[in-house]
Amino acid sequence: MAKRIQFNQHGGPDVLQWVDFELADPAEHEVQVENKAIGINYIDTYVRSGLYPQSSFPSGLGTEAAGVVKRVGSAVTRFKAGDRVVYCQAALGAYSEVHNVAEDRLVILPDSISFEQGAASFLKGLTVQYLLRQTYKVKADEIFLFHAAAGGVGLIACQWAKALGAHLIGTVGSAEKAKIAKDAGAWATINYREENIAKRVSELTHGEKVAVVYDSVGKDTWEPSLDSLRRHGLMVSFGNASGPVTGIDLGILNKKGSLFVTRPSLFGYITNREELDAASNELFSLIASRAIQLNVPEQQKFALSDAVRAHQVLESRATQGSSLLIP
Ligand code: NDP
Repeated sequence: MAKRIQFNQHGGPDVLQWVDFELADPAEHEVQVENKAIGINYIDTYVRSGLYPQSSFPSGLGTEAAGVVKRVGSAVTRFKAGDRVVYCQAALGAYSEVHNVAEDRLVILPDSISFEQGAASFLKGLTVQYLLRQTYKVKADEIFLFHAAAGGVGLIACQWAKALGAHLIGTVGSAEKAKIAKDAGAWATINYREENIAKRVSELTHGEKVAVVYDSVGKDTWEPSLDSLRRHGLMVSFGNASGPVTGIDLGILNKKGSLFVTRPSLFGYITNREELDAASNELFSLIASRAIQLNVPEQQKFALSDAVRAHQVLESRATQGSSLLIP
């Protein structure tokens, strides 16, 4: 037996329950990991609320963690008991003391990276990797817009942009978050609770606007994001923190400058071992060189049993950077 967070119906944070569960043996191609630190991601709130509906209950929750290998399935040769590892996968259940993970979603965690740093950066850092390095290759000196820049994904994006020599304009919800994003490497910030996003982007770029916008806020920022793009610009819509973008008339792309839109996801970019290793190595080398630093505030490290409170705090927009569950 082990303990995990599970839920029996969609709803608010209160649907999350701390329960005993029967731990299965790892299947042929699975690795059993004793989680030491678990990454909390905004996507976990979409799964819990039903924005991304579950087909069966009870369901586990959570997609990433760092820990130690306990046992491996009969066909696993790449990992052994005692290895330090980190993983992220579409399959749910990482909010757990112990979890069986498909071997092709797991990598060895370098000794120089702690479990907490690994869980704080893996899914979010791989996301920044594919956004800035694959979906649209951001270049040195290029100015671009990235929403929610003081969040988990956002603070890694600020640092990654700085390492590339690019100029990230980051939107944030408070003056305090503006300072945090600036300290992490944002070139400029816009407090979108007070300022007009497109007008500020236009001012900051001397009327040129930007070639790419990375938008994880969704409904509230859709239109100002399009208005921040120059002709033929690319709108990368990769999240729904304020609600999903729906009911779009494609004619708007024509009206605003023959724009492009993509709606990517991490698991559409990282589909096999080769892609996982290439993106992880890039991320780990930036962490090793300290170009990317991960300092999770103590008040954002929650006991695994306290996932209800962790979700309440995340959804209240009170967090900065990454948050963790500690078993
Ligand atoms: P964050 O730590 O960034 O938390 C979300 C942030 O969004 C908040 O802190 C808040 O920052 C901002 N926000 C703006 N409007 C709202 C609103 N109405 N309600 C709540 N928050 C709001 O979360 P993550 O780092 O875990 O994820 C960031 C985003 O990236 C999410 O939308 C997530 O779904 C997306 N994502 C997408 C992936 C993909 O491959 N498609 C992969 C990983 C993440 P502020 O107060 O500054 O406005």
